[in-house]
Amino acid sequence: MTTTAFDVQAVRADFPILGQVVHGKTLVYLDSAATSQKPRPVLDALRSYYDLDNANVHRGIHELSRRATDAYEGAREKVARWINAPSPKEIVWTRGTTEAINLVAHSWGLDNLNEGDEILISVLEHHSNIVPWQLVAARTGAKLRYIELDDQGRWILDDLSTLLNDRTKLVAVSHVSNALGTINPVKDVVARAREVGAVVVVDGAQGAVHTRVDVQDLGADFYALSGHKMCGPTGIGVLWGRAELLDAMAPYQGGGEMIEFVHRDHSTWAGLPHKFEAGTPNIAGAVGLGAAVDYLAGIGMDAVVAHERELVGYALDRLREIEGMRIYGPESQAERSAVVSFTLAASHPHDISTILDAEGVAVRAGHHCAQLVMKHFGVAATARASFYLYNTREDVDRLVDALGVVKRIFG
Ligand code: PMP
Repeated sequence: MTTTAFDVQAVRADFPILGQVVHGKTLVYLDSAATSQKPRPVLDALRSYYDLDNANVHRGIHELSRRATDAYEGAREKVARWINAPSPKEIVWTRGTTEAINLVAHSWGLDNLNEGDEILISVLEHHSNIVPWQLVAARTGAKLRYIELDDQGRWILDDLSTLLNDRTKLVAVSHVSNALGTINPVKDVVARAREVGAVVVVDGAQGAVHTRVDVQDLGADFYALSGHKMCGPTGIGVLWGRAELLDAMAPYQGGGEMIEFVHRDHSTWAGLPHKFEAGTPNIAGAVGLGAAVDYLAGIGMDAVVAHERELVGYALDRLREIEGMRIYGPESQAERSAVVSFTLAASHPHDISTILDAEGVAVRAGHHCAQLVMKHFGVAATARASFYLYNTREDVDRLVDALGVVKRIFG
């Protein structure tokens, strides 16, 4: 699939997993916000890497090591171009968004935050953009403050000038919410945060999947993403950071690959990005993510976003017709990405999900690692249907039909 004319059936043909039958029904996969499926070119890249090129990177002076290093560093260049980073040196491989945020919390936070400093996050955050800051706050004496949510789960920014002040040293916010699908006005918040001199971390776990990311245009200091959400393998992600900040930060972990010289009593560090990549990295994962970036670039991010928008619009229209349906998140479709979080009358989301599963429809039920969001809406859990480039209107229809079964069972 290398054409720019978006053809969802051609896209689907690239994803072997989607053709399978589950519980006697053709699979409808609506859980891409948890993890996306992988297209053939990514699977082929992983296979080919292990079949032909597998060796450790950087250290070897033999052909396979050279090839593995080229593939690994080539993938870094692809990701840098994909998010418009000024240099591949600013792309640090991590296990995913969680590790990328923990890296900043640890290496920047522990050394730069002090008693009385403030960290600003939002109630909308995934736990991986809350808990690392709680841990750092507890160790440094910094105070955690929150951007609150309105009744549609959107950030309340009226009091941002109070929330952001000369004590605010760090702001960490998500680009797109995994729990509600909200596309946050992150660029405005970044600009305001930088006015007070705060360092800004953007959780791009969903943003990198559902928007065209340009880190230079966004203006933040760090951007974190996970490969597995954007057609890549699990266990590989990215921390993009401004070189001057990364340069000034202490290493996150010590070990091989990240040193320049090791002496008995101290060591000196390798340059960027290797200073942050201790140990043998997830080489195949990086190669697979590079292939995912190529795949998405071949289709075109604008086409992916347009397809998702059309689909979510259709899903919202159809779901809103169902009696007892409560949909969480912004009413305006312009503020929404490819996620629809809902509850249906008194049915428990886990029961909804179980019945949908029996109908071949995979959705997620739970708190979506966003317990503060659930608390905000006074629910313990929601069901969440999330869409990606391979989903169709027929998938939405199958979801709606399966919800009809839920209604018949629960009344
Ligand atoms: N932030 C958001 C918004 C997410 O959706 C996720 C994944 N659900 C994460 C952070 C954490 O990503 P990972 O588990 O890949 O590290």
